[in-house]
Amino acid sequence: MTRSAELEQNLRHVQERIDRACVAAGRDPQDVTLVVVTKFFPVSDVRLLAELGVRHVGENRHQEAEAKAAECAGLDLTWHFIGGLQSNKAAAVASYAQVVESVDRDKVVSGLAKGAAARGAVVDCLLQVSLDAPGASASRSGAPPERLETLADAVAGCDHLRLRGLMAVAPLGAEPATAFGRLADIAADFRARHREATWLSAGMSGDLEEAVGAGATHVRIGSAVLGPRPPIK
Ligand SMILES: *Cc1c(COP(=O)(O)O)cnc(C)c1O
Repeated sequence: MTRSAELEQNLRHVQERIDRACVAAGRDPQDVTLVVVTKFFPVSDVRLLAELGVRHVGENRHQEAEAKAAECAGLDLTWHFIGGLQSNKAAAVASYAQVVESVDRDKVVSGLAKGAAARGAVVDCLLQVSLDAPGASASRSGAPPERLETLADAVAGCDHLRLRGLMAVAPLGAEPATAFGRLADIAADFRARHREATWLSAGMSGDLEEAVGAGATHVRIGSAVLGPRPPIK
């Protein structure tokens, strides 16, 4: 099987999973955007995905993302940055990413705004919220829920940044349905104060059903489309 045929088949399976989860949740599949996470995979895969109709791709490492976005200029792709942000790299990330899903500290906001302004663009921002139990040693990044308001104010105060909503990763070892149920509560509370923040990015290859059930508008799928990730070099 060619790589293209393999990706096409995997995309079809993932879309079927999304569709079934939407039916189960009484939701319209049009309301769930598939972001294909291409980290660690070559730019040739990104090109094939674009040919197969993928419009949203996600990357979590700045250098890799920057290089791929440059090589794929003109392919009509929307780049989502989903990885840990360093404040000294934030401006550079905003120079190619149209969506930054991992805003979790005030310190990165001004850099993002600067990079977006330099490009003359508006960058869509999601605040990454930690779903770790309070007091747990943080296994994944993200702002604790009580810090979202300050962070939202920081983003809202920047002309070139648009507050779109929240992003989260289910904590390792947690029951996804429970974690995303908690996320749904946090998101509802957040949306009551920020009407424009309608996006909710949650769900990966292993837990997209639970995420769609909890109201995710964006799912970030890597291995279910591209296969197991190559080992880190
Ligand atoms: C790698 C990654 C994904 C995709 O994970 P899969 O399990 O391969 O689908 C989603 N979200 C984030 C933040 C990631 O780093």
